[in-house]
Amino acid sequence: MNIALHIAVDGPAASGKSVVCRILADRLHILYLDTGVMYRCAAYAALRNDVDPADANACGLLAETMHVALLPPVENDGRQETTLLDGKDITWDIRSEAVTAVVSAVAAHPRVRQAVNAFYRTFAEHKSVIMAGRDIAAVVLPEAQIKIFLTAALNVRAQRRALDMQAQNPSQSVSTEDIMMQLAKRDALDAPNIKIAPDALIIDSSELTIEQVVDQIAEAAHVIIR
Ligand code: C5P
Repeated sequence: MNIALHIAVDGPAASGKSVVCRILADRLHILYLDTGVMYRCAAYAALRNDVDPADANACGLLAETMHVALLPPVENDGRQETTLLDGKDITWDIRSEAVTAVVSAVAAHPRVRQAVNAFYRTFAEHKSVIMAGRDIAAVVLPEAQIKIFLTAALNVRAQRRALDMQAQNPSQSVSTEDIMMQLAKRDALDAPNIKIAPDALIIDSSELTIEQVVDQIAEAAHVIIR
C-alpha cells in the first residue's frame, strides 16, 4: 500500500524550519511547502486593495477569492519557489517589510485561516509532503505521521537571521538587537496562531546544528517509511 507521508514542522519565526525542511524534503524525496506563503499572499492582497488588516470579513473574503499558484523557482534570482497571485509573480513582494508588518494581523482572522487551511489540506491529499508553519500538526494535518515543534531561544534565532541577511547581502548593515526586537514583536503577534500538537516532538535547536535537527527528524521518518 502506498501511504502518503505527512510531516508537520511548526515553530516560531526564524526557528530554522525552512532550512531544515528543505534538506529533509531533498533527503526523503518529498515536497516541501512553506505555509506562511498563503498568509503572506492574503496580507499582500489586503495592502494592494487598501483593505484594513484588522477587517476580519474583508480579509476573509480576499483569502477565499484569491488565486494563488505555488510553483518551483522559475527565475534564477535566489528564489526558493515562485508564487503567483492572480497570475502575477509576487515571489519577492510577499517578503517585503510592509507585508511582514501586517501578515500576523491578517493571519489572525478565523475566516482567513479557514480558507488557507482548506487550500493546504487539499494540497496534501494523496501526496507526501513536509509542511512548515505554526499550526500544521494541530490543525491542518492532525493525522500527520510526524509532528515536530521546532524552537530556539530568541537571541539564537536573531543571530541566525542576522547571519542569513548578511550572507544574502554583505553590504547591508544588520543589527542583531533590532532583529531580536522584531522577532519578539512577531512572536507576540503570532502567539494566538501557534498551536502545539499534544503529540508533537519538541526540538529546541538553540544548541544543535542544522544537521543534528535534520537527523533527528529523518530518523523518526525512517521508522515510518520502513
Ligand atoms: O513563516 P512566515 O514567517 O513566512 O509566516 C508569515 C506569517 O504567517 C506568520 O508570522 C504567521 O502570522 C502566519 N502563519 C500562520 N500559520 C501558519 C504559517 C504562517 O499563522 N501555518
